[in-house]
Amino acid sequence: TEFVTVSELASMMDVDVNKLIGTLMSVGLMVSINQRLDAETINLVADEFGFKTEYVSAEVQEAVAEEMDDENDLVSRAPIVTVMGHVDHGKTSLLDHIRNTNVIAGEAGGITQHIGAYNVKLENGRNITFLDTPGHEAFTAMRARGTQVTDIAIIIIAADDSVMPTTKEAIAHAQAANVPMVFAINKIDKPGANPDKIREDLAQMNLLVEDWGGKYQCQEISAKKGIGVNELLEKVLLEADMLDLKANPNRRATGSIIESSLDKGRGYVSTVLVSNGTLRVGDDIIAGTSWGRIKAMFNVRNQRIEEAKPAEPAIILGLNGAPTAGDQFHVLETEQEVRDIANKRMQLQREQGLRTQKRLTLSDVSHRI
Ligand code: GDP
Ligand code: MG
Repeated sequence: TEFVTVSELASMMDVDVNKLIGTLMSVGLMVSINQRLDAETINLVADEFGFKTEYVSAEVQEAVAEEMDDENDLVSRAPIVTVMGHVDHGKTSLLDHIRNTNVIAGEAGGITQHIGAYNVKLENGRNITFLDTPGHEAFTAMRARGTQVTDIAIIIIAADDSVMPTTKEAIAHAQAANVPMVFAINKIDKPGANPDKIREDLAQMNLLVEDWGGKYQCQEISAKKGIGVNELLEKVLLEADMLDLKANPNRRATGSIIESSLDKGRGYVSTVLVSNGTLRVGDDIIAGTSWGRIKAMFNVRNQRIEEAKPAEPAIILGLNGAPTAGDQFHVLETEQEVRDIANKRMQLQREQGLRTQKRLTLSDVSHRI
């Protein structure tokens, strides 16, 4: 696992370690010289010193989460799943089918709005959260910011077509991020469907599916007719079990912005996905240079909620701007803190406009340890 201590970070950026400690103090973090920093803190201070942080390893944050949360506080959370594939191979159809057939038990009504993420409860009582952003955005936007939101990728391939360049790209994204893949061979209802040709294409890429003796889970589906979709979701849950996904609901929330907009009646509206902690109405939150106190929260069915737990998406009102998709959000203790950090970030943005950014690559870290 990869961590970076305060003194290592200082030497990577070639700044005085005391200056770095001072900066961390100014954002409310009391640290010692040998303390290991989490990815979000590194982002923040690297920003302060004019560095753009590049994460070459998606494991940084997970490792840190383990370090910071008491084992006893960790509870299982739902997997966060992204569907990727070539255009017209059936991403939207699959996500729509799942959205329309799975409603949280006891809750009336379905999901009518498109907010970039939704969660469903399956008949077996288990939850899955889907990122529903177009194309590879979930991956590229988030990864560009050093965030790893997705736990599992469904790679969808039409059985009447073949593994296309975009499919290969999606596979490469998942592999680079170390995200397990489940293959969905779609459109098996079509007369021209040839699922084995897809298995063959995958085998050519060294991706041998389970039914051919390999390690990759694969399911034939018809997103349009709903065939095989439950089986596909069971396979996704099997992957989730192997990942043993956990989070600590007993802390201030962190997570990602999925999308933001300005609503004439309600002001700035953001869809967020909690990665750790519990997000509550009344929390003071910062994301990018936007901040505010959460006035109201809604679930994906547009019902008012008071809190959102790990892996749950929520729509929040109360930010004073529209943060970018992929931005991390943090809940801090006081409004003053979020305001101060927002001001600093804005000042930095202005300054950075005047100079080219230096780059800090975190692969350097692994060489040092
Ligand atoms: P996307 O571009 O990956 O989001 O693909 P869409 O979900 O928009 O699907 C593209 C086209 O394929 C649409 O006309 C769908 O109705 C059709 N389609 C998707 N899944 C199936 C399927 O399982 N069977 C059949 N026959 N058509 C499908
Ligand atoms: Mg689509």
